[in-house]
Amino acid sequence: MSTVLEVSNLTKHFPVRRGLLRRQVGAVQAVSDVSFSVKAGETLAIVGESGCGKSTTGRALLRLLEPSAGSVKLDGEEITALPPSRLRAARRQMQMVFQDPFGSLNPRMTVREILVEPMVLHGIASGARADARVSELLRTVGLAPYHAERYPHEFSGGQRQRICIARALATRPRLIVCDEPVSALDVSVQAQIVNLLQDLQREFGLTYVFISHDLAVVRHIATRVAVMYLGRIVEEAETSALFADPRHPYTRALIAAAPRPAPGAVVGREAVRGDAPSALNPPSGCAFHPRCPLATERCKTERPELRAFGGNTVACHHAEQAEPLPLAAAGSAP
Ligand code: SF4
Ligand code: MG
Repeated sequence: MSTVLEVSNLTKHFPVRRGLLRRQVGAVQAVSDVSFSVKAGETLAIVGESGCGKSTTGRALLRLLEPSAGSVKLDGEEITALPPSRLRAARRQMQMVFQDPFGSLNPRMTVREILVEPMVLHGIASGARADARVSELLRTVGLAPYHAERYPHEFSGGQRQRICIARALATRPRLIVCDEPVSALDVSVQAQIVNLLQDLQREFGLTYVFISHDLAVVRHIATRVAVMYLGRIVEEAETSALFADPRHPYTRALIAAAPRPAPGAVVGREAVRGDAPSALNPPSGCAFHPRCPLATERCKTERPELRAFGGNTVACHHAEQAEPLPLAAAGSAP
């Protein structure tokens, strides 16, 4: 399989300014040195607590936020250096579905107008051909074509997210970045949207970057998982390996804290201890050390680099010390 997306050392810092003269007094290190690649037809999930930099990463991929440093290649083409005209062409290939289907649709536009807009912008279709494609797109996401003349407020949350997905598909993209696409929806419709995304992936050979804090959803949809903590990837692995044998203490805490899908497999829900520290002033050494049960003196001073451990890539000085999780032994597959 070919590599669709290749991200190297992606970094996004936000300057922090104070005082009358708005002098820069520091920087929030939202994303630091993030690297990963995604192959055609795969889903890479990016997981972590809110504020860990996963949404910033997603936006930086499409340059909805300009990266501070690093490289993003889509089908081998460097995105970060493109002038605006070429960036538009590249954006045709990479679309985004956002968390909030209420906020991301213009309330004054009909569904038809919402879906035609990207087709016209990217020179894909206009007039009768665009209208025909609107009907086709609506059917593709499970909505009847007569919905085209309606406005966003006339739809439920799940239907609105279907419209957002149809809008993303309108340009026939290679890659869709989904940022928490189901977390604003009722639990009862979450599975429908996740299944729709999977069906579309198969049908159109789509590649996904799937940003989520919901490990049950991630386990269901992802090929690989990258775990982020305070702006950095701390572990990456194939989904089955990550859940069977998480090596980073933070990954282990996240999995242990997640609700079990099977009632019989309930183990102690030990949440991650303490609050996430500030990205403005991250802890020295391993940023996880104030919360880590395995932390040693070395962890306080020396930041662990990502290294291969079994099938996983882990940034932890003591990855080999982690005991098997009780839930892995109990077998909690849904
Ligand atoms: Fe914990 Fe140290 Fe590993 Fe960081 S490097 S996760 S503090 S054991
Ligand atoms: Mg977010």
